[in-house]
Amino acid sequence: MAAQKRQPVLLGVPFDANSSYLRGAAAAPPLIREALRCQASNTWAETGTDVGSAFIDAGDLRLPADSAFSAIENAVAEILDNGQLSLCLGGDHSITYPIMRAFSRHFSDLTIVHFDAHPDLYSEFEGNRFSHACPFARIMEEQLAKRLIQLGIRTMNDHQQQQAERFGVEVVEMKNLPALDRLKLSGPVYLSFDVDVLDPAFAPGVSHREPGGMSVREAIAHLHAITGEIVGADLVEYNPVQDVSTLTAMVGAKLLKEMLAKVIASW
Ligand code: MN
Ligand code: MN
Repeated sequence: MAAQKRQPVLLGVPFDANSSYLRGAAAAPPLIREALRCQASNTWAETGTDVGSAFIDAGDLRLPADSAFSAIENAVAEILDNGQLSLCLGGDHSITYPIMRAFSRHFSDLTIVHFDAHPDLYSEFEGNRFSHACPFARIMEEQLAKRLIQLGIRTMNDHQQQQAERFGVEVVEMKNLPALDRLKLSGPVYLSFDVDVLDPAFAPGVSHREPGGMSVREAIAHLHAITGEIVGADLVEYNPVQDVSTLTAMVGAKLLKEMLAKVIASW
């Protein structure tokens, strides 16, 4: 990789058609942006980086209903082709599959660090192979990443356990955290952050509230512990319909600041 400066580009992906239980995540991107700019806080990450003017905001994608995935893949590919890096605001978690299709063309040995209450490894879910319950099955089948490390999982079942073994997924269940020492990585690293990894007490604004999750502090500690070159990220599954007083949007903006700082520090 050239020593050229790579600027992060924030891209909203207002898409929730592959949600299995509740819609609503498509409305998330402008609300997280608003929380990021809210006067209640400043734009500094805890690592000492002011992220406020350190990224380009590309706005929200316009997604045709019949070809949303190719539109997402093409938009991310264009950012990477320009020598920039993408941070995508979902949207439901199904969007990570087309995003990774674009990334895999630029980075051949990617490690994905995936924060989630759910493994999202279903071969298909309710007849939909592209459900938000399936993206990491598609990603691993197509070998779009070299390693997949999952953190905070607390809904493992037999089928997904078999899938995890089949694909060599490194699953760190919630009950086995902290796992800061598992995050000393090298090479390009992509962060996929499903907000439902957090305990619903901290982040009620998600479609699938799964108690017993991470505190915001635990999530930030694990983000900070990741080494390697952070080449991109997504923040998905914020569902404003389920939120209380925009609390989860503020949590999402906080995490976005820390993820932006990780990307900026890598380049
Ligand atoms: Mn997920
Ligand atoms: Mn989830």
